[in-house]
Amino acid sequence: MSTTSYLSDRINSLSESATLKMTKLGRELAAQGINVISLSVGEPDFNTPDHVKEAAKTALDENYTRYTPVPGYPELRKAIVDKLKNENGLDYDISQIVVSTGAKQSLSNVILTLINPGDEVIIPTPYWVSYSEMVVLAEGKSVFIDTDIESNFKITPAQLEAAITPKTKIFMFSSPCNPTGSVYSKSELEALAKVFEKHPNIFIISDEIYEHINFIDKHESIAQFSSIKDRVIIVNGFSKAFAMTGWRLGYIAASKEIAAANDKMQGQTTSGTCSIAQRAGIAAYEGGLESVNKMKEAFARRRQLVYDLLNEIPGVKTNLPEGAFYFFPEISSFFGKKDQDGNTIKNSGDLALYLLNQGHVATVDGNSFGNDNYIRLSYAASDENLKEALRRIKEALAKLA
Ligand code: PMP
Ligand code: GLU
Repeated sequence: MSTTSYLSDRINSLSESATLKMTKLGRELAAQGINVISLSVGEPDFNTPDHVKEAAKTALDENYTRYTPVPGYPELRKAIVDKLKNENGLDYDISQIVVSTGAKQSLSNVILTLINPGDEVIIPTPYWVSYSEMVVLAEGKSVFIDTDIESNFKITPAQLEAAITPKTKIFMFSSPCNPTGSVYSKSELEALAKVFEKHPNIFIISDEIYEHINFIDKHESIAQFSSIKDRVIIVNGFSKAFAMTGWRLGYIAASKEIAAANDKMQGQTTSGTCSIAQRAGIAAYEGGLESVNKMKEAFARRRQLVYDLLNEIPGVKTNLPEGAFYFFPEISSFFGKKDQDGNTIKNSGDLALYLLNQGHVATVDGNSFGNDNYIRLSYAASDENLKEALRRIKEALAKLA
């Protein structure tokens, strides 16, 4: 990590986002005229649905151009309340919803709202890169529960129980999971909820941003268990389900107290998010799930394609992810091998850089997700690009000696 003496300890202690860094490096190579295939950043390769774009154009024409209420337009919060009721069977009031500039901001708000220096945050590994760094910003301490490919990257209640200490303040996870695609079933969530029942001071951040990209079943939220619902903070957003990554629109659903605290936080930092994006968000939720279901069909086909191609690469081990749009294959068999210039591949970071520079495929190192034996591939790319990327990866890996 590079540090600069006049910058704050806070920013000097923070690592750069690995997903965004690899995306930047890929773009830089592409700007030199090199044909780089990006499997690094996780974003749908589809356009925002037309009816959502139309709503944004109308919003402009109708002069939705002024400051918005800090927690979001009431109509958008109502649309979110209706979505939570109709799709998830969950009861919330609009005072429990705070709209933000993306699930990323919501996560950061919640952590900064709840964590005092030294408080512990339990995070199952692998986890999305920004979780642990947000804990660093809040001067908390991440406590990791390790999982691996054999456990399908899911924790057991016994593992959870063992990680809890008097200092535990938050448990934070995503299901479907970025980066593994693992999906917790209702009974698995219920078993975790039973552990939380015994520990009434722990809050649960349930990151459900990939809820609609689930290939095995209907989405289940841990907020459905009434004994702990008050302590669950659902984080969700429009980026993945409606291909709206650039619009910056997310939200929390939480207890009134936590919602009010997030509102206060935003009131002193960002204010309410973009008026036009919010109007578009209302159209997205009111317009139904046709577009996301179409995207899901494409993702399902690509998942099978990438699974088959990964299985043809000697030394790579993968499971079949149940949701999201990532593979998290095990690649540690390449550690200790040398590239064509005689450099030894020592870790997942070296391998990701090798694949970028020699194979011209951008991926993300597993270390940034909490496990160095893996790399992450996003399959939110065209079938042609995926086939070519996997061909390049296979060829580049075969050249390591
Ligand atoms: N959570 C997870 C698990 C993610 O993968 C992402 C990346 N999109 C986010 C939160 C943040 O999403 P956004 O800020 O675009 O809503
Ligand atoms: N969440 C996406 C990813 O994991 C987007 C990039 C980011 O914000 O980290 O790639």
